[in-house]
Amino acid sequence: MPFKTLDDLTAPLGLTAVVRVDFNVPMENGRVTDDTRLRVALPTIRKLQSLGAEGVVLLAHFDRPKGRRVAEMSLKPIVEPLSALLGQSVGFAEDTPDHPAYLDAENLSGGAVLLVENTRFHAGEETNDPKVAEHFAQLGDIYVNDAFSAAHRAHASTEGVAHILPAYAGESMRRELTALDAALGNPQRPTLGIVGGSKVSTKLDLLKNLVSKLDYLAIGGGMANTFLFAQGYDVGGSLCEKDLKDTALEIMAAAAQADCRLLLPLDVVVAQEFKANAANRTEDIGAPLTDADKIFDAGPRTVDELCKIMASAKTLIWNGPLGVFELPPFDAATVAAAKFAAQQTKSGKLVAVAGGGDTVAALNHAGVADDMTFVSTAGGAFLEWMEGKVLPGVAALEA
Ligand code: ADP
Ligand code: MG
Repeated sequence: MPFKTLDDLTAPLGLTAVVRVDFNVPMENGRVTDDTRLRVALPTIRKLQSLGAEGVVLLAHFDRPKGRRVAEMSLKPIVEPLSALLGQSVGFAEDTPDHPAYLDAENLSGGAVLLVENTRFHAGEETNDPKVAEHFAQLGDIYVNDAFSAAHRAHASTEGVAHILPAYAGESMRRELTALDAALGNPQRPTLGIVGGSKVSTKLDLLKNLVSKLDYLAIGGGMANTFLFAQGYDVGGSLCEKDLKDTALEIMAAAAQADCRLLLPLDVVVAQEFKANAANRTEDIGAPLTDADKIFDAGPRTVDELCKIMASAKTLIWNGPLGVFELPPFDAATVAAAKFAAQQTKSGKLVAVAGGGDTVAALNHAGVADDMTFVSTAGGAFLEWMEGKVLPGVAALEA
């Protein structure tokens, strides 16, 4: 790892750590409805405590208050569920101009945990104002970033502060970076990517980066229609970005140039109504389609071919479903590919890393999210990383 982790800290610490976490949890009427992100933060908090940290000060953003104090966007509702999970009461710092958070942070002892109010209540958080970074740095002696999902933003609490205090990757950040490195940084070959989802336009950078790095790339979902159309195949009334025809051809040429073998659908499942259990039929590509026909999934021959390639691959990186997985039976290709990936991973033949908003939902739908090597819930940060971009929050840890 090109950056320091908590393993580089030696006990007894006797310090206070400022930890950036992701507590942007789903909330309804001031109650946390899914505590996954709170659980994700526990290993880092506990490790710092076991190393002898006097205080653990937690920084997090919630929603988009745009630099103003918005009561409904307070982090206060986190205190109770976090205390329950930790089995210790967590303090809360309002962090107002009259009573800045360092007044609450300076006397922590014995591994006390203090949650600081929404970082984005400071106007300078999102602009990475050095004054706000300094304000956060005053809260402790070392900085730990455990929020990979916020690392694509250069904000005061994710980037600026990392240049002021000695900076470390937290446990969840380390796990994520290790998995991503195994998938795309230094993967075992042959490598296979699966990219699906709705549109080519939102995943251009991602496709370009992947064809330059992978041995095989399967393209599915709505975006495959644009590739089929670009090659002159009939796509009927399917979702298709016809204006991106040339872009699709460029990506195909780039893949050929880079020796990345593309797998586009060989057959497709077609229906006329966008609803569950709509009447449907399977067609080979090239079959004539009417304007009423819409491609909603990849067909069984495509899935067979994909699984054949997956059986020979050592690494899989996956973003985006192969079809409209929300509406059965148009989940069939996604579910079959996911189950095969899970089986290969469980038998130790494949390292499988997946991520992206709907991808996580699709793998959960297939019941195999836990069988993958790693499933990232980081959303935007995961996609930017798949695009080959430098994530400022990660880069700052390397400095
Ligand atoms: P992700 O969030 O996984 O990165 P996207 O947001 O780009 O992926 O796309 C996911 C959506 O794509 C899903 O809602 C799915 O229904 C839709 N989709 C997949 N295949 C098709 C298709 N053939 N036609 C229309 N929509 C599709
Ligand atoms: Mg999405």
